Amino acid sequence: MSEISVSDVQSLRVNFLGELIQPHDAGYDAARAAWNADIDRRPALIARCRGVADVIAAVRFSRERDVLTSVRGGRHAVAGHAVCDDGVVIDLSEMRGCRVDAGAGVIRAEGGCLNEHVDRESQAFGMAVTGGIVSHTGIAGLALGGGIGHLMRAFGLTIDSLVSCDVVTASGELVVANDRENADLFWGLRGGGGNFGIVTSFEFKLHRLPSTVLAGMVAWPMDEAPAVLRFLREFLAGAPDEVGVMGNLRLAPPLPGVPAELHGKPIVALVMTYAGAVEDGERILDPVRRFRSPALDAVGPRPYTAHQKMFDAALPHGRHYYWKSHRLPPLTDEIIDIVVEHSAAITSPLSTVPIFSLGGAVARIPEADTAFPNRDAAHDINIVASWLAGDERDRHVAWVRRFFDALEPYSRGVYVNFTSDDAAERTRSAAYSPEQWTRLVALKRKYDPTNFFAMNANIPPTPD
Ligand SMILES: Cc1cc2nc3c(=O)[nH]c(=O)nc-3n(C[C@H](O)[C@H](O)[C@H](O)COP(=O)(O)OP(=O)(O)OC[C@H]3O[C@@H](n4cnc5c(N)ncnc54)[C@H](O)[C@@H]3O)c2cc1C
Repeated sequence: MSEISVSDVQSLRVNFLGELIQPHDAGYDAARAAWNADIDRRPALIARCRGVADVIAAVRFSRERDVLTSVRGGRHAVAGHAVCDDGVVIDLSEMRGCRVDAGAGVIRAEGGCLNEHVDRESQAFGMAVTGGIVSHTGIAGLALGGGIGHLMRAFGLTIDSLVSCDVVTASGELVVANDRENADLFWGLRGGGGNFGIVTSFEFKLHRLPSTVLAGMVAWPMDEAPAVLRFLREFLAGAPDEVGVMGNLRLAPPLPGVPAELHGKPIVALVMTYAGAVEDGERILDPVRRFRSPALDAVGPRPYTAHQKMFDAALPHGRHYYWKSHRLPPLTDEIIDIVVEHSAAITSPLSTVPIFSLGGAVARIPEADTAFPNRDAAHDINIVASWLAGDERDRHVAWVRRFFDALEPYSRGVYVNFTSDDAAERTRSAAYSPEQWTRLVALKRKYDPTNFFAMNANIPPTPD
C-alpha cells in the first residue's frame, strides 16, 4: 500500500466535484466518525462524492495508488467498515436523491440515502419498501446485506423488492445489474454486501401501504418474559403476513411515552406493525394487547414514517456499541430460558436485545434466488451492548459474549449485516450456505479479483 501526497490530492481535485477532506481540514473529525464511537480511524482522504462521475474518479484514484479504500453509505456498520485507517474513504453521504415513479410503482434511490429518505418519498405516494427499524441507517449497506424490518413479513426483505442497481466496479466502470444485464452480479448484490462494487443508485419496487398504520409497542415487566415469548411463538405461528412483530428486552428507557414508573426497570416488549387497514389490525393485534395486562400499550394508529423513527433516539450516533447475533429457529422453551436469563443480567441501561421475526413473504422466496440464506428460520436476535465514553467496556462486551455463547448450540448462522468484530470469520463460516459461498467467491473473482473492496464482511476472491 502506498501513501497519498499533496500533489496526488490536487490531481484528483481537478476532476472531482465534491469535497475532498484531509486530516488538516476543519470538518475532518466529523467526516471520519462512524456511528459506533468505539471505532476511531484516521483516513488520509475522505472523497465526498456528488455523483457517479466522482465515484468513478475516486475508485480510479485509489486503484492507481493501491491505497486501502472503504465505502461509506450511512456509516452504521458496527465494525466500522465505512472508515479505514490511512487510506481513502469514498463517501456517498451527499448522494441522497430519491425519485418515485408512481405509475411504475418504483423508487430510484441514490447510494447514500438513509432509510428515512426512502420512507419519506415513498409514503408521499402511499407506498413503501421494507426498510430497517432505525431511520438513520443507510439504505445501501442495509439492502446489500438483505434488509430486515417491520414490513418484511408482508413485502419480503429489502432485496426482494430490488429491481436494478447502477454499480461502479473495482475497475472504475459503471455497469447496470438487474435480471437482464449482469444477472450474476445482481444475484450477488442481493445479500453479498459491498463486495462487488459501489452501488450509486438502487431501484426498488414499491408496495401499497397506507400512510397511517396500526403500530407501536406493548410491554410487560421482565418477570413475564417467559410467558410473553411463549405467547409470541404461538401468535406468530398463526399470524397473517401483514403482522410485523419484534421482541425487545432491555431496561425501560426514560423516553417520552414510557411511563415514569417503568424507567430503568427490566421489560420485555413486543413491537407491533400491521401493514394493512387499521381496522383489520385492531382485530388481529387484539390478543397481543390483552395478553396478561401489559404495563404499557402504546399501539395506535400512527404515520408509518413516525413508526420508523421509534428507535432513533435509543440507538443514536456517537455512543459506544458492541454486538453479536444469531439467526434462530422458532423459540423453544430452552432458547426462551437462555434469552430471559441473560437479558435479566444486562449490564447497561443503554443496551438492548431486539428479536426480529422472519417468516411470511421472507420465507416464500426460493433460497437460490438471492444470496440471503436460511429464509425459513424464525428470528434474528441481536445482542447489543451500548455505553457512554469512560464506562467499563469489558463488562458490557463480556455480557454480549456470554449471552451469544449460550445461544450458540441453537444458532442457524448469522445475518451478515449483524456481524461485528467477528465478520472476518463468520462471513465465511455462518453467513451463507455452502452453495451461496462458492457462488459468491466466484463472483468476487470475476468482479473484484484483487479484493479492492475489502472493508466489509469480506468475501475473498479465492476460496481460502
Ligand atoms: C442502529 C442500527 C439499526 C439497524 N437496524 C437494522 C434493521 O432494522 N434491519 C437491517 O437489516 N439491518 C439493520 N442494521 C444493520 C445495518 O443494515 C448494517 O449496519 C448496514 O451495513 C448499514 O449500512 P450503512 O450504509 O448505514 O453502513 P456503512 O457502514 O456506511 O456501510 C456498511 C457496508 O456497506 C458498504 N457500503 C455502503 N454503502 C455502499 C454502497 N453505496 N455501495 C456498495 N457498498 C456500500 C460499506 O463499505 C460497508 O462495508 C442496523 C444497524 C444499526 C447501527
